[in-house]
Amino acid sequence: MRIIFDRFKNGCKCALTFSYDDGNVADRRLVEIFNKYGMKATFHLNSARLGRDGSIKAEEVKKLYAGHEVSCHMVNHPHPTRIPFASVAAEIMNDRRALESACGYVVRGMSYPYGSHNEDVITVLRACGMEYSRTTRATEWFAPPDDFMYWHPTCHHRNPKLHELFDKFVTPNHHAPLQIMNVWGHSYEFDQSDNWHIIEDFCKYATGHDNVWYATNIEICDYINAVRRLAVSVDGDVVHNPSGVDVWATVNDECVKIPAGSTVSFRKDI
Ligand SMILES: [Zn+2]
Repeated sequence: MRIIFDRFKNGCKCALTFSYDDGNVADRRLVEIFNKYGMKATFHLNSARLGRDGSIKAEEVKKLYAGHEVSCHMVNHPHPTRIPFASVAAEIMNDRRALESACGYVVRGMSYPYGSHNEDVITVLRACGMEYSRTTRATEWFAPPDDFMYWHPTCHHRNPKLHELFDKFVTPNHHAPLQIMNVWGHSYEFDQSDNWHIIEDFCKYATGHDNVWYATNIEICDYINAVRRLAVSVDGDVVHNPSGVDVWATVNDECVKIPAGSTVSFRKDI
């Protein structure tokens, strides 16, 4: 029995996600582009900015980002490593409270303002319910992070090798199963640099691949955590999925689904 955990939702081998910070009004145009091409994204918002000039309004959060994910970026966009731990806690809890009331669901993820983080800050953030946080350290790589509180993105959208990286990402690579491409940026950069064509071209290029799961940051985090929680029998022929997430795997070269909360046996005699 050969079982390999190398598939995302619906058996896809790769997952593409976008991660955009600060909640600028340019998010409206960006969401429109993502929706046009079936892309899924996460928007990291500072609740104190909502309703200010140039920023999204709290009342439009739910409708604008429907189908995508609303996530924290701390209330006032502080340097998390330069403020007291109590302020880190307040900045994230109050951001969660405001965003949760705007979007109606539990907000469980974030990106670090200025990419600023350290181990002590992360301890506080975990205690405040954060399950992942994206940094600004682009790796040009696709492996899932060991710890989602150190989720380094693949690249910024202005990386000139964006399309080349996507090609590499969708090419099967046995050294990095469960490949993730996480593209990050700020929507206002497209206005500032007058280069909206970058994201439009990329979405056009990346859309409609059978082997790509288009997902938000938290969906990918939840999926990988579900894979990591699978319990496998010593002989490798019985798999228990204790999570609330359906998981797909390759068993003897075939794609199989291991439904949420189920135990699946691949033994012939059971
Ligand atoms: Zn920011």
